[in-house]
Amino acid sequence: MNLLDHSPTRWGDLLEAQGQPAYRGRQIAHWVFKRLTTDPYSMTNLPPAVRRLIEEGTLSLALPSLLSSESADDGTCKIALALADGPAIESVLIPRKGQMTLCLSTQAGCGIGCRFCRTASMGLIRNLTVSEILAQWIVAARQLGTSPNAPRIDHIVFMGMGEPLANLDALIPAIRALTHPDGVGLSPRRITVSTSGLVPRIEALGEANTGVRLAVSLCAPDDALRRTIMPLGRIYPIDQILEACRRFPLRNRDRITFEYVLLAGVNDSPEMARALGRLLAPFRSKVNIIPFNPFPGSPYARPSEADVVRFHEILGGLHITATVRKTMGPDVLAACGQLAREMESQKVLTGGDTP
Ligand code: SAH
Ligand code: SF4
Repeated sequence: MNLLDHSPTRWGDLLEAQGQPAYRGRQIAHWVFKRLTTDPYSMTNLPPAVRRLIEEGTLSLALPSLLSSESADDGTCKIALALADGPAIESVLIPRKGQMTLCLSTQAGCGIGCRFCRTASMGLIRNLTVSEILAQWIVAARQLGTSPNAPRIDHIVFMGMGEPLANLDALIPAIRALTHPDGVGLSPRRITVSTSGLVPRIEALGEANTGVRLAVSLCAPDDALRRTIMPLGRIYPIDQILEACRRFPLRNRDRITFEYVLLAGVNDSPEMARALGRLLAPFRSKVNIIPFNPFPGSPYARPSEADVVRFHEILGGLHITATVRKTMGPDVLAACGQLAREMESQKVLTGGDTP
């Protein structure tokens, strides 16, 4: 049993079930989430019997192993982890404007099949467990170091590999551990979950009352176009998505973010900008324009800077708040939609290229 698959609030019970005092659970949580160690022999206040429970895996703290960490020229750092059964996943640390954002994966691969996304080419390998989601935070936080001056992760976005709402069973407990004071202790308002538009799951996330922010990848102002770039649009049309967004619990002044991947000659015309503006006008929303990030074999092109600016200005003229997402880490393929590790993970499984 991996302790990280259970809420840190329950670790005391799990320790008691092994005949140990409950307060040991708190002590272990402190080592893991505040000191970033999972090695029982570094947990100096634990007696040998408790260390053995961890070491022998009765109450394991095993993490996926670090495959690589690559830093881009702009400071973005892409971290790859190998899951115990082979597949690899990626997370990205993004330093910007004095903030440190961590972009987390929720699935190995993704089964949604958006045409503009490199992760889609992997297909869905499997859902991640709670511990595999939290492990990404632990490993990334370790990369930043524990010295008092080291930068801390202050924002989390579920925008890595996979569709977070297709893995709600692990997503929600992971969010609870990230926000609970015995866990990471981050404010839920600093956590954003991005979805391709799984309507019933948007409602389920709202009902779970986690307090996190929602982002929806809209990417087209009408269903006909949306279906051609996002096959999920055939099941959940835009009006149903917007209705689910309307019901999503928002705090005062909060808004829902609509992501719009801008594809040259596909969804970047002035008419589309105006149609998007009309669609979102009745809404407390903001639009995040993401100029397409190309990847090997991708069928689309990135729009020109002038076309991005034009799209942005038309939305502004319609009083829609919009921002253009800066491309981070393109030189290490760490930007939105560029995460995919299928080949690398197979190398790990077979021990590399050696005969
Ligand atoms: N599965 C979720 C979250 C991961 S994708 C979702 O689809 O929302 C995070 C964001 O990257 C989404 O808004 C998605 O539309 C965008 N994206 C995917 N591929 C991209 C690409 N090649 N270039 C730019 N943005 C991309
Ligand atoms: Fe999956 Fe999101 Fe990529 Fe679509 S954009 S294939 S939902 S990860």
